[in-house]
Amino acid sequence: MTIYTLSIIDKRIETNDTVTLVFKQPGLKKIAYLPGQYLTLIFKINGRRYLRPYSLSSTPVIDKFLEVTVKRVPHGIVSNHVCDIVSVGDVIEVLQPMGDFVLPNAPKYENYAIVLWGAGSGITPLFSIAKQVLHSGHCQVVLVYGNRTIDNVIFKTQIEILQQQHPDRFTVWNFYTQLDEAIQKKYCLKGRILPDLVLNSLSKNFDLTESLHYICGPNGLKLAVKKALNTYTIHLEQIFSEDFELVKNDADFVDIRTQFVTINQNGIDKVVEVVKGKSILEAGLDALIEMPYSCQTGNCSICKGKLLNGNVKQVLPKHPDLTVDEYQLCCTYPLSSEIVISI
Ligand SMILES: Cc1cc2nc3c(=O)[nH]c(=O)nc-3n(C[C@H](O)[C@H](O)[C@H](O)COP(=O)(O)OP(=O)(O)OC[C@H]3O[C@@H](n4cnc5c(N)ncnc54)[C@H](O)[C@@H]3O)c2cc1C
Repeated sequence: MTIYTLSIIDKRIETNDTVTLVFKQPGLKKIAYLPGQYLTLIFKINGRRYLRPYSLSSTPVIDKFLEVTVKRVPHGIVSNHVCDIVSVGDVIEVLQPMGDFVLPNAPKYENYAIVLWGAGSGITPLFSIAKQVLHSGHCQVVLVYGNRTIDNVIFKTQIEILQQQHPDRFTVWNFYTQLDEAIQKKYCLKGRILPDLVLNSLSKNFDLTESLHYICGPNGLKLAVKKALNTYTIHLEQIFSEDFELVKNDADFVDIRTQFVTINQNGIDKVVEVVKGKSILEAGLDALIEMPYSCQTGNCSICKGKLLNGNVKQVLPKHPDLTVDEYQLCCTYPLSSEIVISI
């Protein structure tokens, strides 16, 4: 895993709770990435090391610099640090770009319409993908974007400029849970995103079976969009989704108890208490073990650990690169006593 050290050359305020960090590319070898991928930022805050993934909101073919856009999460350690403390001139370590929320590399999809479904900060990878496709492709691009109010819209002006540049190819639907009744604009609606309504309208303009769908937002949005797409017989390989946080299901935890787990790193054992509900990764980090990790959503496999004794439960599907006795510790919980894991 390559670690880069990047300088922040600009910090832009996007909304009252969201900022964009602009990084200078390294002098010698530029960091290559695909629209939709993320950078993992590494911070040391109050003596503890934190890693957090942020989707690149810049686009490789268009933007000279690397940009990530961070929305403040209430009580969130890193997002508030980025919004309040990080400043121009700071130097930050990042892991190489990762992620498979990207455009497929198959010619058959070249002319498929791209439909981007997002809410709040979920716009970041979608914005990068939209810019890439509008710049390099010929197909229709539809952005369906949900926010609380108009003031919460991230990249509002830049989206409007893209609409002016591509009036025949780029359609934007805005949904606002709080909308001034006086604002009456086409494709501007009050309430949460209504996937059925949007798809019904789109189906009058193009053949939905020839469309790709990218979803980035809360779990409820993902489920609603997938359900609506199902009625239009859109194949699963045409639907991509990115989670910004681990989606937990209470039913997965009924057989989990608080346990002590031994974590072996470089031959040294450390016993940590894994309180019910916490993953083995979370417990290890709380015990200040420098465990490798990135996405914390069961997507990447950086946090893998090898089970040497006992039983554990991974609540999300295993990464295909892992062997039978390897687990992604961000979504793995203790099922027995006397668990030993090596990392
Ligand atoms: C692949 C990927 C890409 C991401 N891209 C972006 C991005 O482009 N922009 C961006 O702002 N964030 C993005 N995130 C989320 C980001 O990595 C952090 O999780 C987020 O900034 C919160 O970190 P924190 O340290 O402030 O909060 P923490 O201190 O980790 O958490 C504090 C509390 O907030 C909750 N929480 C954590 N994350 C979220 C969230 N995203 N929304 C609501 N509540 C949350 C936690 O459950 C916890 O209760 C991405 C996440 C992933 C996995």
